[in-house]
Amino acid sequence: MSPEQQPAAPSTVEGGSPIDRYLAHNQAHEDLLPRDLPSPPADRVAVVTCMDARLDVYRVLGLSSGQAHVIRNAGGIVTDDVVRSLSVSQRLLGTRSVMLVQHERCGMLAADDDAFAEQLERDTGRRPSWRLGGFADLEDSVRSGVRRLRAEPFLAQHDDVRGFVVDVSGGRLREVDVPAE
Ligand SMILES: [Zn+2]
Repeated sequence: MSPEQQPAAPSTVEGGSPIDRYLAHNQAHEDLLPRDLPSPPADRVAVVTCMDARLDVYRVLGLSSGQAHVIRNAGGIVTDDVVRSLSVSQRLLGTRSVMLVQHERCGMLAADDDAFAEQLERDTGRRPSWRLGGFADLEDSVRSGVRRLRAEPFLAQHDDVRGFVVDVSGGRLREVDVPAE
C-alpha cells in the first residue's frame, strides 16, 4: 500500500465505532436538513460521480439540499444502474441536465477487471455477473460515458450532458470536450 492508499485515522467516539459516532452526531443536532423541500431537484440536474471519500461533491459544486440528484459509484462510471437512476431522475422527477464528474487519482484508473473477477472467484467460488469497470484513460472514460448518456434511449433528455474531471487535491474542475456527433 502506498502512503496515499493508507486509510485516514478512523473517527472514534469513546467506546464506539465510527457508525456510533455518526449516530451520536445525528442525535445531538436538530434540523440537520431543511424542512418541506420538494423531492424534484430545484436545479433539474443530476450529477454522476465517484464514491471517493475525498470528493465532497456538495462542497466542490456549491450544492445544498434539494438542488440536484447525486448518483455515485466506484469510478463514477455509467453503468446500467446509473441509467436506472437517471431514468427515474428525468422521467419521474423532472431533471434535464446530466453532469458526469470523474476524478484524478481514481482507484478505477488502470484497475484490472479480469484480475478483480478472478480474485473474487478465488475467494468465494463465484464470479461476479458485473464488471469492475476499470479504465485506462480518465478523459476517454468521461467521453465514452457522455456519449452513452447522449444516446441512451431510457433517458428522456439528451441535450445537456457534459463531462468533467475534478482534481481531488484542491477540488478544481475542468470540462472534457465531447463534440456532438
Ligand atoms: Zn474514484
